[in-house]
Amino acid sequence: MFVLQRAGSGDIRVKSKKALLVVDVQNDFCPGGALGVPAGHKIAPVINKYIRIFLKKKSVIFATRDWHPVRTKHFKDFGGLWPVHCIQNTLGAAFHPELKLPKEAILLYKGMNPDKDSYSAFHAEDESGVGLLVWLKRLGIKEIYIAGLATDYCVKYSAIDAIKYGLKVKILIDAVQGVNLKPDDSKDAIEKITKMGAKKIKLTDLTTKGRK
Ligand SMILES: [Zn+2]
Repeated sequence: MFVLQRAGSGDIRVKSKKALLVVDVQNDFCPGGALGVPAGHKIAPVINKYIRIFLKKKSVIFATRDWHPVRTKHFKDFGGLWPVHCIQNTLGAAFHPELKLPKEAILLYKGMNPDKDSYSAFHAEDESGVGLLVWLKRLGIKEIYIAGLATDYCVKYSAIDAIKYGLKVKILIDAVQGVNLKPDDSKDAIEKITKMGAKKIKLTDLTTKGRK
């Protein structure tokens, strides 16, 4: 259904050094899913608005999916923290139907290694095994805008890695939601990554004063 386009083949004409990263907006992380984040699905229409803005600017859009094998140390049954979720090729691992990803989006998968949690999108790779960092370098992306699920895990670790790799990071605070195993986990996550240098952004920052 999605056309997976590749840098260097002429498929992608990037006019921007910015990219949107949509993290794990999947059925299992939304209400009714195996690991449903309260109101997780409510960010989908907001992310769709960001997607339209980034498309218009010919910026690259990445979308990750948690993509686990049946047996992984990530799951409680095998010593991990989590109930079974986002098993490869299941409905739970599918993108939430309200998320409208364009055909230009570059799809990345993570969590395939049964020995690791792989929260960060920087552990994700495309169908050919090309990782996010390689994609960003190929495309000359210097700044990444992060949305998705969940604030206190995959969004947080993706942001930390992005900062570590020298990227400017914007967290789309109206387009993330957290698990909150402890009530303040998401708040603490945002605090930690903003202390490290990430900036908080909301839709109106881009639609009004943020035009460049
Ligand atoms: Zn997972």
